[in-house]
Amino acid sequence: MHQSPSSSAASPAPAPAPRDTAPRALPHRTLAILSIGDELTLGQTLDTNGKWLSARFAEAGVITVERCTVPDDLDAQVQALQRLATKADVIVCSGGLGPTKDDLTREALARAMDDTLVEDPIALAQIEAWYMARGRTMGPLNRLQALRPSRAVALANPHGTAPGIAGRVQHADVFCVPGPPKEMMPMIESQVLPRLMYDQSRSVRTRTLHCFGLAESDLAQRLGSLMDRSRNPLVGTTASGGIISCRLRYEGPGPAAHADALLDETAREIRGIAGEYVFSEGAATLPGVLLEALRTRGHTLATCESCTAGMLAAMLTDVPGSSAAYAGGLVTYSNSLKVQLAGVDAKLLAEGGPGAVSSEVARELALGTLRRLASTHALSITGIAGPGGAVPAAAGRPAKPVGLVCIGLASIDGEASAGAPACEVRTFAFGGDRATIREWASKSAMAMLWQRLIGRRAPLLREVVAEVAG
Ligand code: AMP
Ligand code: MG
Repeated sequence: MHQSPSSSAASPAPAPAPRDTAPRALPHRTLAILSIGDELTLGQTLDTNGKWLSARFAEAGVITVERCTVPDDLDAQVQALQRLATKADVIVCSGGLGPTKDDLTREALARAMDDTLVEDPIALAQIEAWYMARGRTMGPLNRLQALRPSRAVALANPHGTAPGIAGRVQHADVFCVPGPPKEMMPMIESQVLPRLMYDQSRSVRTRTLHCFGLAESDLAQRLGSLMDRSRNPLVGTTASGGIISCRLRYEGPGPAAHADALLDETAREIRGIAGEYVFSEGAATLPGVLLEALRTRGHTLATCESCTAGMLAAMLTDVPGSSAAYAGGLVTYSNSLKVQLAGVDAKLLAEGGPGAVSSEVARELALGTLRRLASTHALSITGIAGPGGAVPAAAGRPAKPVGLVCIGLASIDGEASAGAPACEVRTFAFGGDRATIREWASKSAMAMLWQRLIGRRAPLLREVVAEVAG
């Protein structure tokens, strides 16, 4: 590694220096992100800058090829800059531009560029103005923030004292921005993205389809060759909280419209293969999609929750405007409230009956809620969220393990004959802890209703008994 002893010495610059080389002849296609700071490598701060930068540059058609995090250590930063410069067209380096001894980005960039630091008069004036506007005077340490490598340029920071720096290491354009997200984001928008050269002959477009109710591996099996890594658009999956997101990415020649047409085609193929599980595209959530599907049909939903005790209601009402389709619900945690509020036959709950966690009770909860709350659909959830509450097998009654959940769906819709509500109950054996069981129960209930609305019933993940009754 090259270490220039002179790079740490500051000397006044006569005039703003030009960039060290002519503008790139080739467009910027690839990005490397260097996140700097002990707080990141010690695990005290999450690298949200890296996440945001990857997403923002992808939107602009520049794909992240590597993200790297280093501590406030000069050698580590110089080495990272030099290594990343061999891998990407652009490097965005966040953090380490403060005025204190642990802020070493200016120095690291100078060394990686084999350059010396000079004071930038315009940057200095901007820092002084920033203090003056707040009725304060600039301290001597803040003056250090006006330093930049002599062949780099300073980038104005309207939201803080640390100017950014644009330089070049080997063939990579390097943009150093402050770590605080509120300063970093507007600088990327106003100072970095407009400086990039975009490839008009190529496009990078992405799309995401969201599924619920099948395992990631089942989806992968169904998708088969659609997931080949040589395919364009490329298809990948990610699972989070039971939602399987299918990422589609086209990167190649042609305008955006061409890329979009190819993405449409791949999305259609995926829907053809797993459409009964694909509930949305992009930012739409399962409750959001469900409520919209109800609203456009002029339907309403009421809920009756035992083991989830309002979690389903909370998920639904997290969506702004949910009142257009969600009527409200009952929380019938105790047996007596199941009888009192939802009209469950007390005999079902008494000794010798099937008990609170049973398809019979789930059915009565759903039908009673539908009737009493006068909605078009009613969902009921009754189950054992654990960790206690499991019931061993007894004479004539199977065991009820933790994770056993019965979900009822009663509906009055156009197809229901003579006003008799249709009611279905599905029984699930969820795994995981209490929180996971409750979350999966709530989402599975929504998936049941969503499948009913689109008219495509299919088994849901962890469903053990499927039972349909009129
Ligand atoms: P700086 O003084 O430029 O090193 O920035 C330090 C501040 O920015 C700290 O408050 C950090 O919490 C925040 N910060 C630095 N890097 C990141 C990052 N990669 N993601 C989120 N916050 C960061
Ligand atoms: Mg720092």
